[in-house]
Amino acid sequence: MSSTYEALVLDEPCTRCNFPKIEMRKLVYMSPNEFEVLVFVCPNCGYHQSYIADLNSKKPVRYTIYINQQSDLNTLIYRSPQADIAIPELGLEVDHTGFTQAKITTVEGFLLEAKSQVDALFTKSEAEKFLAMTEAALKGRLKFTFILDDESGASWVKARTGTNYEVEYQQNT
Ligand SMILES: [Zn+2]
Repeated sequence: MSSTYEALVLDEPCTRCNFPKIEMRKLVYMSPNEFEVLVFVCPNCGYHQSYIADLNSKKPVRYTIYINQQSDLNTLIYRSPQADIAIPELGLEVDHTGFTQAKITTVEGFLLEAKSQVDALFTKSEAEKFLAMTEAALKGRLKFTFILDDESGASWVKARTGTNYEVEYQQNT
């Protein structure tokens, strides 16, 4: 039986006690069926949540999240190492690389991270515009769409309230 195990500390607060760094444990079983178990554990209060996914049934997926109000910024995202992200309104495209790590974050967390990497992502003249628009977006003054494309199908999106996103599965080619 071959399987892989990986543990990561995430820059995400615990949803129960707000401890700032939860742990993500990822197990991938290769036989008899290929499936993945993700367990999020809070080292402070012991809160845990797990997700099980059958990797054989996964198809390339696209999530389109509509950010229409400030609370939509709290939409939770699990970005797998194969996920590409685009926010057309902000001119932002972040494709995955060999160094992309699995990460659980929110739309807001993603914007804050992009802001901190603005020098790497944009030229000087574009950067200023991006920062001004991102500032407005973070204050809920700018509606935008957050698009996540994942060829591995492992990513997921979880709205805090209601459903402000669409999911499209593509056929494997
Ligand atoms: Zn906790």
